[in-house]
Amino acid sequence: MAKHKDAFSRLIKALCALPNVGPKTAQRVAYTLLQHKRNDAQELADALTHALTHVNHCQCCNTFCEGELCAICADEKRDTTRLMIVQMPADIVAMEAAHCHDGLYFVLMGQVNPTQNMDLSHIALNELITRLTDSPVQEIIIATSFTAEGDATAYVLNELLKDQPYKISRLARGMPLGSELEYIDAGTLAQAVYERSLLNSNEKLPEQP
Ligand SMILES: [Zn+2]
Repeated sequence: MAKHKDAFSRLIKALCALPNVGPKTAQRVAYTLLQHKRNDAQELADALTHALTHVNHCQCCNTFCEGELCAICADEKRDTTRLMIVQMPADIVAMEAAHCHDGLYFVLMGQVNPTQNMDLSHIALNELITRLTDSPVQEIIIATSFTAEGDATAYVLNELLKDQPYKISRLARGMPLGSELEYIDAGTLAQAVYERSLLNSNEKLPEQP
């Protein structure tokens, strides 16, 4: 009996690692999985183990992929002079659904929290610098969310890159304040990309895709 209790506690503790899941929710999920959905629970465990073994970061854009390069970075038809910087892999999915960017991406895998001393240790800035070294990139589109964190992240990126020979633009502020990119409809997202504004120059942007 003690052993069962340990296993159950371990499961609840593990579930608490999920975003927005507290102990009560974790307990409810654990009951449901073990009582009613044992097949689904097995599939979840198998899929998680498989993903942990096979999914890594794309060597070019830092998103999740299997193998060295993701499908977008491996696509020779993409415009290699335009790099869009996003916070999370889900943002790429939203952008691709909006069909408004034919360049490449870079994923920071996080955002800057302005209430935590602008800590940068958890976002992939070093990987971004490596990505840009000796690259054909001419324009960088900062596509962070229109939240306090997204604004702070955009600020950090602009400060980091503004003296480099890139045109730096940010998505137009046509989106509702507080918007996470992945929840914005494709039409609004496309409009925000087409109407993006330059941050470090008065030059005109290249023709819109
Ligand atoms: Zn990639």
